[in-house]
Amino acid sequence: MKALVLEAYKKLVYKDFPDPITGDDEVLIKVEAVGICGSDVHGMDGSTGRRIPPIVMGHEAAGTIISLGSDVKDWKEGDRVTFDSTIYKLDDWYTRKGMYNLGDGRMVLGVSPGDYRRHGAFAEYVNVPQHILYRIPDSVTFTQASMVEPVAVAAHAVELTPLELNDTAVVVGCGMIGLFVVQVLRARGCGNIIAIDLEDDKIALAKELGADAGFNPKRDDIHKEVEALTEGRGADVAFEVVGISESVLTAIDSVRRGATVTLVGNLAPVAEIPLQAVVTQQIRLQGSCAICGEYPAVLDMIARREVNVEAILSAEAPLSEGAEWFQRLYNKEPGLIKVVLKP
Ligand SMILES: [Zn+2]
Repeated sequence: MKALVLEAYKKLVYKDFPDPITGDDEVLIKVEAVGICGSDVHGMDGSTGRRIPPIVMGHEAAGTIISLGSDVKDWKEGDRVTFDSTIYKLDDWYTRKGMYNLGDGRMVLGVSPGDYRRHGAFAEYVNVPQHILYRIPDSVTFTQASMVEPVAVAAHAVELTPLELNDTAVVVGCGMIGLFVVQVLRARGCGNIIAIDLEDDKIALAKELGADAGFNPKRDDIHKEVEALTEGRGADVAFEVVGISESVLTAIDSVRRGATVTLVGNLAPVAEIPLQAVVTQQIRLQGSCAICGEYPAVLDMIARREVNVEAILSAEAPLSEGAEWFQRLYNKEPGLIKVVLKP
């Protein structure tokens, strides 16, 4: 088959690659659409240590089942499917506790952090176990379905956050996941949603997608602006969707006493927290990792147009042009958010 292979750091090559071998409990999928994730772009140069070459990246995908392993039930050739980005074990302490995203021995598709190498979906075909598959509703396209994964990441963060009807939420960082957090919060019954970003065009997009107000820390005093919208109290919840000290501080500084700040971004391995503010204001810091069962809800929300994934889609292109699109994303070309490749 053809695949987009990371042969060495910063060296992506579209070339012949061995076909995947399908296990007994796996299906073989003809990939129809696969999104380029920020973690793939950051991983390409070796800076994250999670894409050790050679690796076929790609964990946000959708396609058609073309063959089945001998133990596969309930699926058939021709089924339109998407799948979780995490391959988790069914017989695991965490999985049995309902936290498969935290289980031992889990692998992310298209990732090679050193202790495993699992080729992903920047290829004509990919093999995945049946227990991570989800059926795509008829009204949802393959391209839309390839964007379910990042929406599910946003939905998981919202699910972990205690929310009451009409709560005010601050979202720090309006990249792709942040924009999905805004949309899921809107569907979840939030009141004021306040979007924060360093780029005005992203703030404008957040407002189009459901945010009521938007502020730019380069220009605005975030603490004051949020106070003005919350009778001087601060927001009920905040989401940090960047992952560096400055934005963590902004999130914590924008909430009221007793609030929850949910941490989604993790660009930096270590970030500063204002310890005394967190303790004396009884702020809860909630980490959010990946996805834990949100796929069916998100597929349904996309089908019912409660979440608009196309708003984030910048381009669709053939997989053979993947290296070029990776480079454009790596160079942070203005206006580029999500690129979906078609094998
Ligand atoms: Zn991703």
